[in-house]
Amino acid sequence: MPSFTVYKGSDSGKIVKAETTRPDLKNDDVLVRITASGVCGTDEHYKHADMALGHEGAGVVEDVGPGVTSLKKGDRVGWGYEHDSCGHCEYCLSGREQYCPERKMYGMADTDQGSFASHGVWREAFLFKIPDALTDVEAAPLMCGGATVFNALHATGVKPTDRVGVMGVGGLGHLAIQFASKMGCDVVVLSGTDNKKEEAMKLGAKDFIATKDKKEIDVGRKIDVLVVTTSVMPDWNVILPALAPTAAIIPLTVSEGDFTIPQNPLILGGHTVHGVAVSARAVHRQMLAFAALHNIKPIVMKFPMTADGIEEAMGTLRDGKMRYRGVLVPQ
Ligand SMILES: [Zn+2]
Ligand SMILES: [Zn+2]
Repeated sequence: MPSFTVYKGSDSGKIVKAETTRPDLKNDDVLVRITASGVCGTDEHYKHADMALGHEGAGVVEDVGPGVTSLKKGDRVGWGYEHDSCGHCEYCLSGREQYCPERKMYGMADTDQGSFASHGVWREAFLFKIPDALTDVEAAPLMCGGATVFNALHATGVKPTDRVGVMGVGGLGHLAIQFASKMGCDVVVLSGTDNKKEEAMKLGAKDFIATKDKKEIDVGRKIDVLVVTTSVMPDWNVILPALAPTAAIIPLTVSEGDFTIPQNPLILGGHTVHGVAVSARAVHRQMLAFAALHNIKPIVMKFPMTADGIEEAMGTLRDGKMRYRGVLVPQ
């Protein structure tokens, strides 16, 4: 029975080191030794829960169950938010398994293990081979952050001729800029201040608009697809006039509040608001291949995979000081 170290949340929010023991590997179970884990905003939501944290894992296959066919010891793999689904419902059969009624996701299932850990046991069917062009540290943030923004663009059917607005330059935003610009889109970044302008332009943005305290903004060519990655929703009265007719709005931030938007401009503009949850596995694979082909890489800050290192990484993210994705690496 594999036993390994995990790092959990706790009542007080302090990170606690613990041991997990899993049953012997069965069926398509794979034991992964973790070499890197991204730190995502969603981890913050669970820091008060008695559960193992982390869902942007990357590592090396250490052992395989009897039913594993495509992975072997030594392969580099990653995993993300979803661990399992039924495999036979309409959503699974149509490549939308992230909406399977029996899905197993971070925070809701397998809470005895996560990617803030020394190892994990996950189904082969929900592991992704890491392309050679990406290191484990580069691949980890793609497992949730990268998959989420790529899927948002994929789900709205973004075209190379579209103008894509990326609101917020952080863990998700800095990846969204790269993916959209490599897809051929005309990318405009909306950010509070000019602080991140130079970086955003280097990542592929064509324009950069500082929005703080503005009552109106001039984005030039209007936005067809708006990806919102900020932790707080924008003042829609300022943003809606910058959208092209029939624009798609994709709010990606997971927050507890309601989504409110002025109705008249939404209806008269023919806009749609898309909810998108991580990505299906087929799209996730395409994302990894696309990132490898186009040299799309997260900009990371590294922290040690220890209780203190995790606290420091989560604190950096909380304080808005992460540039742009935290990655935990074993010592
Ligand atoms: Zn995440
Ligand atoms: Zn299903």
